[in-house]
Amino acid sequence: MMRFRRTTSYSSHRVSNASFCALIALAGWSCLGTGRRVQAGTLPGHTTKIVLLGTKGGPGIVRDRSEPANLLIVDGQLYLIDAGAGVTRQVARSGYSIYSISTIFITHHHLDHTAGLEPLLGSIELDKAYIKAFTGKSAPPLPIYGPTATTFLVKAALNYISVSERIFRADVPALPSDAGMFIPHDISNDGLVYKDSRITVTAAENTHFGRASYGPDGLRDMSFAYRFDTPAGSVVFTGDTGPSEPVTRLAQRADVLVSEVYQPILQPQSDKKRAPLSPVVAELMQHMKTEHLTPDEVGKMAARAHVRTVILTHISSDDRPQSFAAIKAGIRRWFHGTLIIGKDFTSFELTKNATAQAK
Ligand SMILES: [Zn+2]
Repeated sequence: MMRFRRTTSYSSHRVSNASFCALIALAGWSCLGTGRRVQAGTLPGHTTKIVLLGTKGGPGIVRDRSEPANLLIVDGQLYLIDAGAGVTRQVARSGYSIYSISTIFITHHHLDHTAGLEPLLGSIELDKAYIKAFTGKSAPPLPIYGPTATTFLVKAALNYISVSERIFRADVPALPSDAGMFIPHDISNDGLVYKDSRITVTAAENTHFGRASYGPDGLRDMSFAYRFDTPAGSVVFTGDTGPSEPVTRLAQRADVLVSEVYQPILQPQSDKKRAPLSPVVAELMQHMKTEHLTPDEVGKMAARAHVRTVILTHISSDDRPQSFAAIKAGIRRWFHGTLIIGKDFTSFELTKNATAQAK
């Protein structure tokens, strides 16, 4: 039996930070196993939980919505999807530990989805170095999957971190090395991209990049949607995209579609007579129109894919009630399943009990 649960509260998990662990370790104790690792759900069988860490669409820092990032927690194992600015803090605020992230997936390399990667890797590196220094225990390497240029991006992040590390290492020469701590993987094709004992991840290139661009290695830049098949159900993240047949196929019969949405600003009739747009504004508007999803387009995709639930994140809209009403109305014209407009830290659970799993 599949059970669906929606919560908007903070997780009750408590985790320690590295400096606290260091103090604990100095006192002769280990903090590993005392809250740093998230425990599997208490419900019988399997649990897959989605935590929206950042629900803002596009770059720019605002008060109430952080930059794009999501946690997927499968039977206690943490997977991070996208790493927008502030992601490190958002993971901590959600009650989980960055140390417990087992794999990172990046949908595409626009800054709103990657600006938080360097601070995150820097903090994880420090965390792991301290823990190794005080306990002698090495953490497994952290894989980072993303489109072409992910290896370049991770190397660039580690270069950034290396300036501080070089100076700090002069004072602490015995600090454990970061060599092999992060393992980037470039994805350049649709299909199966990752598999472990809990999940299978399938990618489909979406339509977010309207014009071809190429990275330093000559490979075409790509933008992906990801499907996570887990023991408790399937979750599809659209990433940023316009209407897309491959993404609609990827989402077929998914339990949850975590979708972006773009709500054009609602203008009074009297405001519609305007001077011609400058070229840059015209290009930006064209990008928003064709490379993002309007509410109607989200609704059509969800209906055609026969998904059970749509959760909206990466919400490109102003925060006026009439804009949210328009988002709901547009999606509801086509899709009649569960519809949730996400906020930062909204979380959702799919559970499957052991009996059902055995069938
Ligand atoms: Zn974006």
